[in-house]
Amino acid sequence: MKIELDAPNVGELEKKYLNQAVDQGFVSTFGPLISEFEKKIANYLVVDHAVAVQSGTAAIYMALYELGIGPGDEVIVPSLTFAATVNPVLYAGATPVIVDVDAVTWNIDPVKIKGAISKKTKAIIPVHLYGNPCDMDKIMAMAGEHGLYVIEDATESLGAKYDGKDTGTIGDFGCLSFNGNKLITTGGGGMVVGKDRDKIDHIRYLVNQSKDKGCPDFHSQMGFNFRMTNVEAALGLAQFERIEGFLGKKRNFREIYQQAFNNLAGVSFQEIRGKDRESSWFTCIQFAQDFDLVQFMQTLQKKGVPTRRVFRPLHEMPYLKEYSRGCADASKIYDRGLCLPSSTINEEKDIKEAAKIIKEAYGKI
Ligand SMILES: *Cc1c(COP(=O)(O)O)cnc(C)c1O
Repeated sequence: MKIELDAPNVGELEKKYLNQAVDQGFVSTFGPLISEFEKKIANYLVVDHAVAVQSGTAAIYMALYELGIGPGDEVIVPSLTFAATVNPVLYAGATPVIVDVDAVTWNIDPVKIKGAISKKTKAIIPVHLYGNPCDMDKIMAMAGEHGLYVIEDATESLGAKYDGKDTGTIGDFGCLSFNGNKLITTGGGGMVVGKDRDKIDHIRYLVNQSKDKGCPDFHSQMGFNFRMTNVEAALGLAQFERIEGFLGKKRNFREIYQQAFNNLAGVSFQEIRGKDRESSWFTCIQFAQDFDLVQFMQTLQKKGVPTRRVFRPLHEMPYLKEYSRGCADASKIYDRGLCLPSSTINEEKDIKEAAKIIKEAYGKI
């Protein structure tokens, strides 16, 4: 038995679809599977339009670019997230404003957003961290009041619902990632989804080097090479067929951990609002006191349980420090938080075993 942290779950079905792409002779940026994959995801999310791109990072960048966000503009992001949320803001030449997260949900704190809005603010990028939906009603209300765009970083929350609506479909754009450790993978890939057909179509044009339809050797504006390939889409279609199974497993893993740690003093879980359905991309816990987390992780690793720290808050990175607005809670979660084995390769018994080992090791510190 080997307990996996976040390894992708690929097998026979993926081989079948990949062979299909090869047999069709479409392994690069032409091919029928790309739009098929876009349609599948759009239907699944109940969103009107979707365009496949090379990564989640590219998806966020293209959303910003399409909205005309650039130098002189400010974009509000949470501190507790992966660097791929904020780097596109810098690519765009805009200024990130990094705010603190809520201590219990770990998501961007609407109160902190409010305090960070200025005349220069153009957009908010809420991140549904580890598959836990942000408080979108408050965020959308504030955005409406101040005329701001909302780009949802839904790269970790495919399958999660906010008050019945899929995450990624509430703001102006939703950005998905199909990186190797995400709920479903295309190897590396992403998608921008949204309600505005013209904008999504325009992104599709931009990511294909802005090639004019009728006249492919003519480029009416600067373009990008951020297209998804047919081979990647083949992988995505196979994975998509298994999405409900993956979600069921991950949610079950969360329940197993919650049951196991039910009476464990000093351990709490990232809190999910009652009306929401999380995707449980990762189940994460937080300890109530400071102790040597790295040593604890090494102990667990030796016993066959791989874990990962939560994201290092953005404001702790030297190149981002100047954009921070005080993010004490993000740092506290980083100091005391842990991501538990959540790969869908694991079976129920593996997770039960992992929970038992973690509990025992925690009892000894
Ligand atoms: C994975 C991820 C992204 C984008 O990732 P890519 O590797 O570029 O697909 C963006 N934001 C967050 C929070 C992520 O976890």
